[in-house]
Amino acid sequence: MGFFPIFLNLTGRRCLVVGGGSVAAGKARQLLESNAEVLVIAPAAVAEISALREEGRIRHEAREFLPEDISDYALVIAATDNEQVNKQVSEIAKGKNIPVNVVDNPELCSFIMPSIINRDPVQVAVSTGGASPVLARLLRAKLETLIPAAYGRLAEVMRDFRARVKTRFPDVGERRRFWEDTLQGPVAEMLFAGRETAALNALERELTKESVPGRKTGEVYLVGGGPGDPDLLTFRALRLMQQADVVLYDRLVAPAVVALVRKEAEKIYVGKQRDSHTAPQAELNELLITLAKQGKRVLRLKGGDPFIFGRGGEEIEELAASGIPFQVVPGITAASGCASYAGIPLTHRDHAQSCVFVTGHLKDGRLDFNWPALIQPKQTIAIYMGVKGIDVLRRNLLEQGMRADTPAAIIQQGTTPGQKVHTGTVDTLAEIVSTRQIKPPSMIIIGNVVKLHEKLSWYAGPT
Ligand code: SAH
Repeated sequence: MGFFPIFLNLTGRRCLVVGGGSVAAGKARQLLESNAEVLVIAPAAVAEISALREEGRIRHEAREFLPEDISDYALVIAATDNEQVNKQVSEIAKGKNIPVNVVDNPELCSFIMPSIINRDPVQVAVSTGGASPVLARLLRAKLETLIPAAYGRLAEVMRDFRARVKTRFPDVGERRRFWEDTLQGPVAEMLFAGRETAALNALERELTKESVPGRKTGEVYLVGGGPGDPDLLTFRALRLMQQADVVLYDRLVAPAVVALVRKEAEKIYVGKQRDSHTAPQAELNELLITLAKQGKRVLRLKGGDPFIFGRGGEEIEELAASGIPFQVVPGITAASGCASYAGIPLTHRDHAQSCVFVTGHLKDGRLDFNWPALIQPKQTIAIYMGVKGIDVLRRNLLEQGMRADTPAAIIQQGTTPGQKVHTGTVDTLAEIVSTRQIKPPSMIIIGNVVKLHEKLSWYAGPT
């Protein structure tokens, strides 16, 4: 990162703007919004600057800039259309260690000004490090639509209550939880809906309640982390990842997804070896319950969708039996993610009217399918965990009458930068696995839709 992002307190501080055009006027105005004391030096000034001067909000000296003008200012902005002057301002200011910004000339700047999304007192600053102001503006426009206008009011209310909340909840953990509940609960919703009095009353009630919230029972979020690309997370998944106290994740969750978990959250890796499911699973269920009973918000992060070959059902069965509140957040399952990123539609009017998801995990060396139901014309088969038992799968499919030339694909590390798509036929599947280095996790897709890959393939990963 080339620039160090900070917010400066300029209240009552002297700031200098050299230049009298409309850009200079804009900068003067921005400085005024931060309560700075602004002096504009320029022989001629646009009407906006004269107006500000007449209102007594800024001072304006109508003359050329002189080197000795740069004295003890908190910051200096050069916005003249004279390159020489701009350069001079920059050099003198830098020589005196005064932060200086030269409009549209990053090389002469010691600081740059970000694009701002303003929900005073909340400010979101966007910077591209001077690389592309247009990109910064586009990003800003996006963020503007995402952040409710009432966020500013929400922040003000929270500020007014801060000291009282601190006295009421001296424990940092309790206090954080109180604020999280407030900011994400009914109080915030009421403020957003314009019901300010109701919101303030509700907040007041929470603060004066007799009982200490203390050790509440925690809750568990069973969250689908999707197949790998973090962009495929749901908004809710991300929100809960940002408010969890503990996160339990396993081998299948992509590191790029785990990286989005709140930094302060405790992260517990519960990766398990493929063939030793049973014992750790019971321990894991137990751990979820223990943590929740300690009053924590426990997020169980799973690859793909928690209810598709993820044992998510088993994990929450025990929670339900123990009376611990939980919620389940769906994720994009591997079949869907891999198929999309490989350009293989799972259904298609001409090629497939149905699609079945199966697990290729062997039980005692066998695959126990209803084979006639599986091998149907115009049906796509998506096989999870199928690589290890690929020989058994191929043999069974052929023995049960599937055409040897049925198109098939193996998608390795789908939706991630490591994605590779190998295509062939049911007959050549096993050979693909033995001759190419197929890395887990991999998904097998069988059916005529695989033929479309050549035409519809679009994802190349980062270049
Ligand atoms: N709950 C998960 C599936 C768990 S089973 C889901 O809904 O996706 C684990 C299997 O999923 C792996 O053996 C592999 O077959 C498949 N899988 C998961 N992520 C994958 C990915 N990014 N690319 C290819 N296959 C994947």
